[in-house]
Amino acid sequence: MKELKSMQKNITKIDYYSCGYCVNDLNLVFKGHGKEKRCFGAGVFLLKHAEHGYILFDTGYTTDIYNCGFIGKVYNLFNPTFVNPEDMIDQQLKADNINPDEIRYIILSHLHPDHIGGLCKFPNAKVIISYKAYERYQAPHLRDLFIKQFIPEFFETNLIVLSESQLTSTHTAYFPACDMFGDGSVLISNMDGHAYGQICALVDGEVFLAADTCWGTDLIDKIPSMKFIPKKIQDDYSEYLNVSRILARMKNDGIRLLFSHDKYNRKEIL
Ligand SMILES: [Zn+2]
Repeated sequence: MKELKSMQKNITKIDYYSCGYCVNDLNLVFKGHGKEKRCFGAGVFLLKHAEHGYILFDTGYTTDIYNCGFIGKVYNLFNPTFVNPEDMIDQQLKADNINPDEIRYIILSHLHPDHIGGLCKFPNAKVIISYKAYERYQAPHLRDLFIKQFIPEFFETNLIVLSESQLTSTHTAYFPACDMFGDGSVLISNMDGHAYGQICALVDGEVFLAADTCWGTDLIDKIPSMKFIPKKIQDDYSEYLNVSRILARMKNDGIRLLFSHDKYNRKEIL
C-alpha cells in the first residue's frame, strides 16, 4: 500500500455536461415517496489536469439509442429517453471550443447506455474501466443492460483495465483506490452495487464523482426504502446499501458528491 505524498491541487477545472436525459417517477422507486416525475440528465464530467490534460468521466447518451434494435426499444419503454444530436458530448465540447481529439482519457464508470453513448467520438482517448466491468463486457448478464453497438472498434486497442491490485494500491479514509496519475489528483475506487465493477473518482480529495451510486444527493437517505423491482434492477442491492453508508460519511465530512444523474445548475463546478 502506498501513502499519498501530498494533496496539492492538480485538477484545474471540473465542468458538467448533461447529455440527454430520461424521465422516471420516484414514486415507483421509493416507498412513501409521493408522485414525482424527475428528469435524470446523463451527466458527463470534464476534468482538466494541469499536466495530463483533459479527462472525461463518462460520455452520456447517444441518439443511436433510438436506432439500436429491440434492446433500445425495451430500454426506451421502461426508461423514456430524450437526446438530440446537439446534446451529445462531442457536440457540446465543440461548442465550447474543445476538440474531441484533445480528450486524453475517458473513465467509464460502468457500461450502461447513458454512460457509454458518446464513446465512439473519442478514438484518441485511453479508456479506463475496472477488471470487473471488463468481465461483464466479455460476458454480459441481462441485468447489465449492455448495448454492444455502442462500443466502438477502437475500444479494445485504447483500453486500460484496472486490476484488483491497482484498485487497492492506495489508501483513502473511505475505500481503497487506484491513484491514476500517482499524484493523488484522481483516486479511482470500485463501488459495486448499482453495476458490477462500477468505478468512481475522488478528485483532489474534495469532490467525489459518484456515478450511479445514488441518483441524487437528496435520495441517499431514501435508499433503505427502495421498492422491490428497482432493487432487483441493481446488480447487488445489499452492496448498493453499503455504498450509501460510505456516501453518507463522505457527505458528512464535507466532500462534495457529484452524481451522474443529479441536477446541476452550473456547467462550471470547479
Ligand atoms: Zn447505471
